[in-house]
Amino acid sequence: MIQARSFAHQDVGVFGLARSGVASVRALKAGGARIHAWDDRDEARAKAEAEGATVATWRDWPWEKLKALILSPGVPLTHPAPHDIVLRAQAAKTPIIGDVELFAREIRPDAAGPGRAPVIAITGTNGKSTTTALVGHILNSCGFAAEIGGNIGRAVLELSPPGPKTVYVLEISSYQIDLSPGLAPDVAVLSNITPDHIDRHGSLQAYAAVKARLLRQGGIAVIGVDDAQTAAIFTGLSSAGGQAIPVSVGKVLGRGVFVLDGVLYDALGGRANRIADLTAAAHLPGSHNWQNAALAYAATRSYARDTRAVASAIADFPGLAHRIEEVGRIGRVRFVNDSKATNADAAERALLCFPDIYWIAGGRAKEGGIESLARLFPRIRKAYLIGEAANAFAATLEGKVPFAIAGTLANAVAFAAADAARATAPAPVVLLSPACASFDQFRDFEQRGDAFRALVDKLSVAHLREAS
Ligand code: ADP
Repeated sequence: MIQARSFAHQDVGVFGLARSGVASVRALKAGGARIHAWDDRDEARAKAEAEGATVATWRDWPWEKLKALILSPGVPLTHPAPHDIVLRAQAAKTPIIGDVELFAREIRPDAAGPGRAPVIAITGTNGKSTTTALVGHILNSCGFAAEIGGNIGRAVLELSPPGPKTVYVLEISSYQIDLSPGLAPDVAVLSNITPDHIDRHGSLQAYAAVKARLLRQGGIAVIGVDDAQTAAIFTGLSSAGGQAIPVSVGKVLGRGVFVLDGVLYDALGGRANRIADLTAAAHLPGSHNWQNAALAYAATRSYARDTRAVASAIADFPGLAHRIEEVGRIGRVRFVNDSKATNADAAERALLCFPDIYWIAGGRAKEGGIESLARLFPRIRKAYLIGEAANAFAATLEGKVPFAIAGTLANAVAFAAADAARATAPAPVVLLSPACASFDQFRDFEQRGDAFRALVDKLSVAHLREAS
């Protein structure tokens, strides 16, 4: 745990007591603060109380004494409308910050000695978790002790205090950037920007501005320049004299890091040096993962200098669960879990990876549906639609792709497996890549992916029994 000492002997409020909120209470307590905490859930309140917080509804907090409100990134700060506690804090002129800000105040670039370790922060619409995990994997393979956290794995304040080899690798959502004005990472990575979470930022421009702020606050900015928003951010930053590394998949850059035909090149030193063949990385399929690999390479290049070791770390990256993850094989049929694809843009990445797809999609629909995927429809042999979005998706597929309204994931897996088993194609794939949030039928995308895996396991066992 990292102690949060910036409010020693002072009163602070902590609102929202999920993992990062409880970690904030613990870290603030260890740092000597007096904590007032609230969450609507009893069980969460009990945890905070056990960590030493005074639990009372936020309306009863001593606002005149509070030096800060530590807000969970899940609570609306501005859009669609500020939460009432935000208005209360503003009325009391209480600064509103998040757990990442508490972290940033401890691990400051200007701190000396043990208080200091490099921080690599990763943000963007898609690819954050994969890039974060890969940055950590590269650093660990090259003798560093990566402390990986934020939106992925542990909350930032649960990470270990800095040691001589520590590098903090943080996945940061745009909500967390809003709440972390003091975070000045040594390396800030922006993967890409596409319309997602606009509801929480008001507009694509506002969303892009939040992401750009993190880059301006940092040292080296690593920017995927393959979409219009990020390309503009790169141009703005470098023309203002900022240190920025452009990263592209498909474009040769005179100065930058790029991937061409699956090969990663570093052209930051004047000529293009071949670094790695990304097609050999079994768990980084698809050109979107080449972007993640190129970003991770660029982010770590000033630390991990042995390019051979970096190339082999990329090649043996084990991948992350729920992201184009092969979870089983029955005969020729592969079963791929891409439950993390909660929007059409993410699902597009998976559809691009396979030619003969039995596609399980649906859940709670995101704006725009699946119309943007039309050019990939020829790859889909049949679609199996689940959840709330089933009828809307069916309307989009009508006359273009055969489909079945399966309703539940269990039905979809059973139907898709049976159809794929009869396929004549050499490598049919049953792909769960829902292009939807999971909340209508599951707690989260992890539970949806785990359910898929369990259904595939059951099928495999039944298949083996039949065969023997
Ligand atoms: P995040 O943490 O930003 O949600 P993940 O690494 O968990 O990103 O990937 C989520 C999904 O987004 C993946 O299943 C994949 O379909 C898609 N994806 C991953 N990387 C990229 C990328 N660089 N560009 C576009 N889509 C991507």
